Amino acid sequence: MLLSKEKIKRVADFFLDILFPPICLNCRSSLPSQKLLLCPLCFELLEINSFLHCPECGQRIVNLKFSCPHQASFFLAAASNYFPPIPALIHYFKYKKLEGISDFLSALLIVYLKRIDLNLSSFYITYIPLYWIKEKQRGFNQAQILAEKIANYFSLPLLRTLKRIKNTPSQAKSKNFQERQKNIANCFLPINPSEIKGKNFILIDDIYTSGSTIKEAVKVLKENGAKKIIALVVAKA
Ligand SMILES: [Zn+2]
Ligand SMILES: [Zn+2]
Repeated sequence: MLLSKEKIKRVADFFLDILFPPICLNCRSSLPSQKLLLCPLCFELLEINSFLHCPECGQRIVNLKFSCPHQASFFLAAASNYFPPIPALIHYFKYKKLEGISDFLSALLIVYLKRIDLNLSSFYITYIPLYWIKEKQRGFNQAQILAEKIANYFSLPLLRTLKRIKNTPSQAKSKNFQERQKNIANCFLPINPSEIKGKNFILIDDIYTSGSTIKEAVKVLKENGAKKIIALVVAKA
């Protein structure tokens, strides 16, 4: 008898649940199914923002206009803040590629984008690339996965605009802002400058901490003629 794909998956899930009992990714309490990712209490902790922010001072931005003196070169769109349960979700998304997390995090981004209520129809979706060796080791680029889901949901064009030409150390490992800035300098090149010129972009990454990676990517996009840029992340630190 041939087993259907669905049946094989159910059997596999059954054994996985015995070997790795489903737990809340944040507090590790037990769950009826790993598909839930979080227990009700940790789910309640999730907060979704409803504004764009200045990437320098965090001030809220209305109608794509800065009211602070920074006049930054891009707008920061952070769906949430880097508080529990977000760090656990990002960790499992990035390093374990746990099934279901990318859908969960992109749903968070979608709810947020709907909340800020911007007309996105003139925007192209793009994302922060990984260095090819890192992408090969990890097997995927987490920013690209989110970008594909967002582009798909809002029916916006997805464009690969940048390539990473340096294998920079993980941001978490470099000590201070200057060091991070130095590591990241000149690490991106445009893939096709004529495809960047004159376009508005939503530039996707997983988190915004020091901002040095996103700032460097924005710099290259702007140098190649990009107009408005909204940096969209799951959470800002
Ligand atoms: Zn929990
Ligand atoms: Zn500001």
